Amino acid sequence: MFEDGNTVVHKDDETGSTILRGDSAFAAAFDGVKNALKADIGDTAFRSWVAPLQARALAAGVLDVAVPTRFIRDWVRTHYAAQIDRLCAAQIPGCTRVEYSVSTAAKAPAKTPAADAARPYEPVATANENAAETGAEQLSSALDPRFTFDNFIVAASNELAFAAAKKLASGENVTFNPLFLQGGVGLGKTHLMQAIAHDVAARAPEKRVVYMSAEKFMYQFVRALRSRDTMAFKEYVRGVDILMIDDIQFICGKESTAQEFFHTFNALMDQGKQVVLSADKAPGDLEGLDDRLRSRLGMGLVAGIQNTSLELRLEILRAKCTLMKREMRADVLAFLAEKITSNVRELEGALNRLIAHAELVGRAITRAAAEELLQDLLRAAERRVTIEDIQRRVADHYNLRMTDILSPRRARPVARPRQVAMYLAKALTEHSLPEIGRKFGGRDHTTIIHGVRKIEELLLADRQLAADIETLKQRISG
Ligand code: ADP
Ligand code: MG
Repeated sequence: MFEDGNTVVHKDDETGSTILRGDSAFAAAFDGVKNALKADIGDTAFRSWVAPLQARALAAGVLDVAVPTRFIRDWVRTHYAAQIDRLCAAQIPGCTRVEYSVSTAAKAPAKTPAADAARPYEPVATANENAAETGAEQLSSALDPRFTFDNFIVAASNELAFAAAKKLASGENVTFNPLFLQGGVGLGKTHLMQAIAHDVAARAPEKRVVYMSAEKFMYQFVRALRSRDTMAFKEYVRGVDILMIDDIQFICGKESTAQEFFHTFNALMDQGKQVVLSADKAPGDLEGLDDRLRSRLGMGLVAGIQNTSLELRLEILRAKCTLMKREMRADVLAFLAEKITSNVRELEGALNRLIAHAELVGRAITRAAAEELLQDLLRAAERRVTIEDIQRRVADHYNLRMTDILSPRRARPVARPRQVAMYLAKALTEHSLPEIGRKFGGRDHTTIIHGVRKIEELLLADRQLAADIETLKQRISG
């Protein structure tokens, strides 16, 4: 299977996209989507996962995208589906949904494998061919020089994670292993991990520190499997003092690479090597995770990073302006901090855009101008649905209070709307069942499954319920 995965990993855009590309507008538009994604995810990931995708048909709002292997399909689904959906909805007229189907036709033409083989997949090109020369420079991902402890603003929402990272980097003996940084997108996980790497490199350069994304770890592993050199890879990884793997929610499912990752990880832990991991979910909520590993992860320190407060966002914006030696009016910063609440990356993106614009036009940005310039971001921020929104809307609709939705009461007039809210939370957000359970007054995920199924079942016959749910969906997403 990985042999299969690998041929495609090597494939690039010119070779792949000639086969199925028609003249259809949707295909051209899909190329636009791919390009937009490329800007976002970088060349390497793009070439491996996105370039092989081919838009084949657009019918009844569904864009059918051919993917050369199951492995790539699963990867794209877990990593890029949300982004692709959003881009397609925005850029391909008439497209409301994207479906991926595995199709051998999406593979490179027969003549290309040789050409591809001559173009080794780059950052890991030498890692396994010559394991003896494998150095941290090759395995470790490049670090962002701005991601230091000094540049990290500490607040209640991230102080535990910050303190743990700092302590670990200081070289003092820490009692926790692994350190598991957990937090939503753009809240500073990568920043803290890289800060550890910077700090250790400055303080104890002899230490071998490897930082890499889970994605990169997987590539390396797939390569090693293919060249039947997993031993060298494992040996290498085990030779490091601190191994940091970012976004391990992307190593999930029953793939053999995931299994191998877990073995490697266990071996490292057994040797007392320090491991730092991050994910957007707590270990207990990572789906498709080996149970032994899950419990092992839970034994370390799980340091959560919570959503930012208004004050933290403001402070980050001010710090960022100072760092870039740029001025921005206080009311504009306040406006940003108030409107862009979901993650710091978006907040920084918005600020950068305003700064770039101010530079271009040569005068300070006003609040009104900011509003105008950030229209798209602000709209996207407003559209993002939270479980709380859903609960509130459902409570309103059925004339209940929020506390009813969260309460343990089982009387039907409360229980049914609650199930509707569960159903909508599953349908309209990306949260896992355990996460949803937690937001429903700490219910078990099996209760959520039951609620969702119940509504699905009732929907088949109950027209009123179907109408209610339709109305609610429109209100929530509208
Ligand atoms: P994650 O890895 O959790 O998705 P990142 O670490 O990439 O998030 O953070 C996204 C951006 O926000 C980065 O540019 C980072 O420097 C910045 N950032 C996040 N939290 C903070 C903070 N507390 N102080 C300063 N910058 C932050
Ligand atoms: Mg990150």
